[in-house]
Amino acid sequence: MVPYKVNKKEYKWRLNANESPLDLFDDWQEEIVAELKREGLNLYPDPTADELRDLLSVYTGYDPENMLCGNGSDELIKMIVEVFLDQGDKVVVHTPTFSEYMLATDVAGGDVIEVESDSVFNVDIDAIIKAVNDNKAKVVFLCMPNNPTGNVFERADILRVFNETEAVVVSDEAYFEFCGVTLADQAVKNDRLVVLRTLSKAFGLAGLRVGYAIGTPYMMDLLGRVKMPYNVNSFSQAVARVALKNRDQVQSIIDTLVSERERMFSALKGLPNLEIIPSKANFLLYRSPRADELVQTFEENGIGIRAFGNKKRLEQCFRINIGVKEANDEIIQLFKDVLINE
Ligand code: PMP
Repeated sequence: MVPYKVNKKEYKWRLNANESPLDLFDDWQEEIVAELKREGLNLYPDPTADELRDLLSVYTGYDPENMLCGNGSDELIKMIVEVFLDQGDKVVVHTPTFSEYMLATDVAGGDVIEVESDSVFNVDIDAIIKAVNDNKAKVVFLCMPNNPTGNVFERADILRVFNETEAVVVSDEAYFEFCGVTLADQAVKNDRLVVLRTLSKAFGLAGLRVGYAIGTPYMMDLLGRVKMPYNVNSFSQAVARVALKNRDQVQSIIDTLVSERERMFSALKGLPNLEIIPSKANFLLYRSPRADELVQTFEENGIGIRAFGNKKRLEQCFRINIGVKEANDEIIQLFKDVLINE
């Protein structure tokens, strides 16, 4: 097995893991301390994160019974494959996509079937449906917006996969807040459909590891059966509650990042030797025959980006998440320096 590797280098601007560029700890410090005092660090955390789910319910508009919290949505991905796979069962993914689906499936003893997207990363829904049915796949992961490409599915396409197969359909909406399209309204009505969300991206809480699933109470019960009892620690639950109470502030950061994403897309569109994949997430994927030079330039200038080397289907591609305006301006200038001025 190949372990998930993380680039731990220190950068001036770390834009390689789709994190938020802003840490709101200073703004929320007093509220966080007050919430923590209520927790009692000598006690185990609430195993079902009830208060957190109540606040998630206000945020999402769905009942707390429709939600289950995980130690990041990573843990929820693992729970799904643990619940639904027996040895040798098949899982369908579209590639390229988030590698955790493959890793979790391997660990659970399942086999991954990859359906390759086209050259601009559109997913062939007919091919997905066929792959699921031909292989009697138990689970299909649809990542929307997709990491690392930023592109989205039509809602109708995800529903087709649901209606035309018998698999558990997972709509991974880790980047939902930057896109606005969701299947949650369907997931709360259909046992076989589950939505995954996280506070790691738009809410800027990647360090806390808080994700949540949305689905029917039946699906939440099934996933809950493989959950470690105290999977979300007290500190994370407390800070997540503060974040959800301050969601207006979070929303204004989301709005800024979305408008920065569009500004970068417009500023860079049309540069020679550069293709930018339109994105609905908090990152952009670039493809260039001069990728090596660009990647090296960003590294030399202290900007951490995600290069894909020769990874299948991502040759000459790299991903940069949207940073604060100052970082984005520097990136735009570096692209121009390499692609125009030389
Ligand atoms: N899904 C997708 C598509 C992601 O990109 C990520 C993070 N890279 C995750 C899930 C996991 O997020 P977390 O575990 O931080 O909630």
